Amino acid sequence: MADRYLSFTGTTPGRFLTRRLGLPQPAELVRWSQARPLLSGPLLHLTAGASTLELGPVLARTGLTAGDREPAAVVLDATGVRDVDALAEVHAALHPVVRSVAPSGRVLVLGAPLDPADHHQSAAQQALEGFTRSLGKEAGRGRTVNLVRLTDATAAESTLRFLLSPKSAYVSGQVIETGGGEVTAPADWDRPLAGRTALVTGAARGIGEAVAGTLARDGARVVVLDVTAAEADARRVAERLGGTALTLDVTAADAGERIAAALPDGLDVLVHNAGVTRDRRLVNMPAERWSSVLDVNLASVLRTTDALLAKGTLRPGGRIVATASIAGLAGNAGQTNYGASKAGVVGLVRSLAPRALAGHGVTVNAVAPGFIETRMTAAIPLFVREAGRRMNSLAQGGRPIDVAETIAWLAHPASGTVNGQVVRVCGQSLLGA
Ligand code: NAD
Repeated sequence: MADRYLSFTGTTPGRFLTRRLGLPQPAELVRWSQARPLLSGPLLHLTAGASTLELGPVLARTGLTAGDREPAAVVLDATGVRDVDALAEVHAALHPVVRSVAPSGRVLVLGAPLDPADHHQSAAQQALEGFTRSLGKEAGRGRTVNLVRLTDATAAESTLRFLLSPKSAYVSGQVIETGGGEVTAPADWDRPLAGRTALVTGAARGIGEAVAGTLARDGARVVVLDVTAAEADARRVAERLGGTALTLDVTAADAGERIAAALPDGLDVLVHNAGVTRDRRLVNMPAERWSSVLDVNLASVLRTTDALLAKGTLRPGGRIVATASIAGLAGNAGQTNYGASKAGVVGLVRSLAPRALAGHGVTVNAVAPGFIETRMTAAIPLFVREAGRRMNSLAQGGRPIDVAETIAWLAHPASGTVNGQVVRVCGQSLLGA
């Protein structure tokens, strides 16, 4: 569904009128394309506190050139901020430059993990979180602001590259912890999933189709899983991507066994994307509406994950990415079933992540999409849809590709230090923020 308001504000009279009326000012976001793989503008590297991070070589490999005129990316290394006094350096570094950041530019704050033995360091580092989220709300013009906690820049390279690229256009106001886990630098950063197999559930259309396409772009052999009723679409998508279609219902008791049987050589990336809504307020919700949503969105995710880990189908170095939702973080009227199922996904990810990594060498993360322009959201009544689109820092809905790019980053062989994270792809939605 086209966002006519976004198109209107992109015209001179539209911008003039909506500004006069104090209405939201969404900017056309710059997204990744083969022709435009990098942000257009220089990268400005700033420091607050006494940092020991070796950041220069990693930043050099992003492909961006160093410079300070209208930077497309500003990286503030604040890992050395150990007390409240040092926070003044955060202000001093960014205050003079925020205005000059290019439209659709990036501000990336780097912090250190909180030190449980030092409440001054913890206070100062936690302060960066409130700072980042607040700056994200101020930034405007399609700019994003995120915080990554890290101790080793090379181990976080895939994360830094993602957040400093057009691939993260709709990811803002996020705090991402990195650490632990193995990192495998790909031979080719343009095809990091070459030689790997990825299975995406619910991939015949919508977000799942975009995920399958993006993982195939990154070199993966994709398996497009969907229900039998969607077989024609699943085959069409698989054919286009040079992959294979697998039709089954993820709620079937033997879904895990059938997936394992279809993948005798194993699996590297498992994306739990299939999901349904059956909205009704709790007072009007029959048990069947409750259980069908819980079954597709949560119980089947648990069952197939358990089966594929137990059978060893997921190879060491593997990735599991589950799809939550901001409805599972913030709650949403009419969605007690859906909100419960998606919050359950978050619980699954946080609990399983350390054990799956220790026991199987597999990372487990979730994406939590906000308002994404799909058939699911096109069905929402006009005024609710319009509110959903605008109630985020970027004042617009995201696209399936935004979720797909985020999943591709989590699936990356060099993202082994990202584990147990729930990353919102929501343009910094006000809901549950
Ligand atoms: P969609 O309805 O367009 O596509 C979902 C796909 O899953 C369909 O192809 C469907 O056939 C398949 N599917 C459903 N039940 C299945 C089952 N039992 N077994 C196998 N396949 C099944 O939905 P979408 O908007 O692309 O959403 C994809 C995921 O993202 C879902 O988990 C959804 O909850 C989540 N999400 C979407 C939004 C949004 O704004 N669209 C926001 C937050 C989260």
